[in-house]
Amino acid sequence: MTAQPVTNQQTSRLVPAQPGGAVAAVPATVRASLSPSRAADFKTCPLLYRFRSLDRLPERPSVEQVRGTLVHAVLERLFDLPAAQRTPQAAADLVPGEWERLLAEQPELAELFAGDDPAAVTGFVGSATGLLDGYFAVEDPTRLEPAERESLVSAVVDDELLIRGYLDRLDVAPDGALRVVDYKTGGAPREAFEARALFQLKFYALVLWRTRGVVPRVLRLLYLKDAEVCDYSPDEEELQRFERTVVALWRAIERATADRDFRPRPSRLCDWCNHQALCPSFGGTPPPFPELVPGDVTRDARQGAVVPGADE
Ligand code: SF4
Repeated sequence: MTAQPVTNQQTSRLVPAQPGGAVAAVPATVRASLSPSRAADFKTCPLLYRFRSLDRLPERPSVEQVRGTLVHAVLERLFDLPAAQRTPQAAADLVPGEWERLLAEQPELAELFAGDDPAAVTGFVGSATGLLDGYFAVEDPTRLEPAERESLVSAVVDDELLIRGYLDRLDVAPDGALRVVDYKTGGAPREAFEARALFQLKFYALVLWRTRGVVPRVLRLLYLKDAEVCDYSPDEEELQRFERTVVALWRAIERATADRDFRPRPSRLCDWCNHQALCPSFGGTPPPFPELVPGDVTRDARQGAVVPGADE
C-alpha cells in the first residue's frame, strides 16, 4: 500500500450493504478488513489488538457481557412485534426465550453460573429485565419503526481496506435523515468507554456516508443502565478526518505486524482485560508471535460466541 493521504470520496469504493446484512462482492483490491471493535482495540492497546486479532486468544465472557448480548437480542426481537405490542411486559416476556436460545447456541454460557444455580440464573434474567426498563425510560418503541437492526454495513477505503461492522439499529426519517442507534448495557465507568463508543459510531457513520452518500444526522448512544441518551451529530469534514484516522490506524497495524511489535498500553481498561497474565505490564510474557498468512492481519475478529454489545 502506498502511503498516500485519503482526502476525498474518490479514494473510497462502495460495497453496498443490503438490509439484513448481505454484502455485495468485495473489490479484488481489498487486502484486509477492520471492524470498529478491533480498530478500537489497537487504539486502546496494541498488545490487546494482537492478543485478540492475531493470537486469537479465547476470552471468557463476563456475566455483564452476556447480559448485554441477551438484552441486544431482546431489543432486536422486540421490533418484530406490531408497534402497539412493544410494551415493557412484552420485552420482559422475550427474555427467558432469548436466554434459552443463547444457551442452546452456546451451552458453555451455563458455566457462568456455578452449579447451574437456579437462583443465580433467575437473578441474571431479572437483571436483564432491569436493563430493559432503562430502555423504556428513554425510548418509546411503539412510536418507532427501525429501518434496519443488527445490520452488517461495510465500505472500502483507500482501495485496500474493507471497514465493516454491525449496527444495532438504523432509523430513517421520512426526509431520509439517518440515525444510528447503539445500545450500551455495561456497568463499567462510562468515561473509560465513552471515547471507544463514539469511535465505533463514527466508524458506522463513515461507512453509511460512503455507501449511501448521506452523513447520519444523529449518532445515538442509549445507556440502558443509567437510562440516558447521548446524541452526537457528525459533519462531512469530520468524517473525512475520521477516514484519514482509520487509514492511518490500519497502516500502523500493518507496520506493527511487519515488525512484530505490539506494545502494551496500560490504562484503566486493563481492569477489564482478559489477558493480564500474558501482559508484560503485569509481569507476564506474550506467547510466540503467530505465523500469519497474507491477508490475515486484520481479519474481522467478530468470531466467537458473544457478539452484539458484548464488549462495547
Ligand atoms: S492488560 Fe492492559 S496493557 Fe496489558 S494487554 Fe491488556 S489492555 Fe493491554
